Amino acid sequence: MDRAWGWLLPVVFAGGGLALSTFLEGTGLGLGLLVLAAGYSGAHLWLTARGLRRVSEEVLALAAGSSTRANVPAPFRSLGVALDELGRWRGNQVALLQSEQTRLAALLDSVAAGILVVDQQGRVVLANRALAEFFGLQAPPQGKRHPEVARSAQAQEAIDLALAQGVAATRELSLPGGRQLEVQAVPIRRDGQGQGVVAVFYDLTRIRRLERMRKDFVANVSHELRTPLTAIKGCAETLADGALHDPQTTARFVKIIDDHAGRLTRLLDDLLNLARLEADQLELQQESCRVRGLVDACLSAVAQTAAAKGLEIAVEIAPELSALCDRRLVEQGLINLLDNAVKYTPEGGRIRVWAGAAGAAAGLGQTERVEILPGHGAGRRIEVLVADTGIGIPGADLRRVFERFYRVDKGRSRAQGGTGLGLSIVRHVVEVHGERLWVASVLGQGTTFGFTLQSA
Ligand code: ADP
Repeated sequence: MDRAWGWLLPVVFAGGGLALSTFLEGTGLGLGLLVLAAGYSGAHLWLTARGLRRVSEEVLALAAGSSTRANVPAPFRSLGVALDELGRWRGNQVALLQSEQTRLAALLDSVAAGILVVDQQGRVVLANRALAEFFGLQAPPQGKRHPEVARSAQAQEAIDLALAQGVAATRELSLPGGRQLEVQAVPIRRDGQGQGVVAVFYDLTRIRRLERMRKDFVANVSHELRTPLTAIKGCAETLADGALHDPQTTARFVKIIDDHAGRLTRLLDDLLNLARLEADQLELQQESCRVRGLVDACLSAVAQTAAAKGLEIAVEIAPELSALCDRRLVEQGLINLLDNAVKYTPEGGRIRVWAGAAGAAAGLGQTERVEILPGHGAGRRIEVLVADTGIGIPGADLRRVFERFYRVDKGRSRAQGGTGLGLSIVRHVVEVHGERLWVASVLGQGTTFGFTLQSA
């Protein structure tokens, strides 16, 4: 019999028994049948109630997350099958939800911006890894009030404003380590009701540093341009005011104008060289070069000044030594190093240019070397050193001299016609080759600059 009719059985039995008992009342069998029917109905009802209790226990277990098959008595087997199906579906949904959550967490953690979600009471619901890093969070911040997590007056102000007024708010803040952040707090609304706030923290440190560098650069260039221009204009005005008629004054002023025009030209050349070196699309024209020939070509550019100062220049380079490099760029850098050696070495001093296998130089730059660029080339390297017996560079300035316009002694540099860009060009030249650059100096005794090149 179909299981659904089983439910009717006690009723049919009870009803039938009652009718039969009425019919058979006279016979004496009626009462016996009635007792039998009532007994059967009672037993069946008891069994049904027990089965239903089991089913409800299974439903409760399923709700609590049980994943075992429903164990229900025979009359409820179809219900058990349905419960198993429901359990499987629920298991799949939970797995899906968990994988979605894992994916969302991974996604939020991979975002560079810090993300903080708070509920309408200002309690933290979610915070990603970047936010934990920005604010040095040690423990999960969920449930804490937002000022305990994003510890910054500006961040609190933005979040509170978004919570209280339901409007987006943006603020900038500085963290104790010097990091510059911008926070954008946006209210979450559902059906016109505030549900909390999403605050996104962007790291502006690099952008602000670049902006500062750009401003400093523009200010420096303007200053560097103004100085010679002012001098040229002053001379021209003085000449126009009558000094033209005095040949001696005229000659002196024309010399000053010429010097400053030369300085302007050098400055513009250096600026253009720097711009080219910094251009992203710079393509190295690598070729095999004899280092000796390359150094000789550069020396000819400074020979006259060196001779005028009575400087001795010694070159120690094996004629066959070759390097693979962009000849034009390396010459540019080398001329700057030689030019500095000549400028900052007093009369009668000595300049040595050495090139050979990396690490084989004897007696040059053996004092503490300050590494400016580590270099990342593989394979055999040669090293080029330019050493002088000049005024030296104080230890505190050794790194800074490679910054644009940084000079240890501004007056001395300008008097020597320096643009303050020479060493930043050197650094760029070595950097675009992916090579190593270092400097060693003893104040009052001399300086050695060294860089590597790929051996050809
Ligand atoms: P500048 O045009 O002023 O020479 P550079 O960028 O070439 O600009 O050099 C920066 C500063 O580093 C110089 O002003 C000078 O103070 C210092 N410097 C560079 N080379 C030497 C050197 N060989 N000896 C001493 N000081 C040097």
